[in-house]
Amino acid sequence: MTIIRDVDYPMCDLCGRPVEDLYQVPDILNRATIVTVFCHGEKESVRIDDVTLHEMIPGSIKFGRAFTISKIENDLKLND
Ligand SMILES: [Zn+2]
Repeated sequence: MTIIRDVDYPMCDLCGRPVEDLYQVPDILNRATIVTVFCHGEKESVRIDDVTLHEMIPGSIKFGRAFTISKIENDLKLND
């Protein structure tokens, strides 16, 4: 696993602080990357397809809040 250090961590909705850790793991079969965040002893994952990931301008990805009632996929958005 690779630790992402060059993006802002998503905020944990339960703790009100950035999540404790964030990892990305390649999902080669599905041509995607699994991003997992860890906080307060729990983890939450989202799959980002590689086309989306590779077409992004570095720094353009923006995380929303983690561990909300809705899934993190809804919180992971690109800046317009
Ligand atoms: Zn938390």
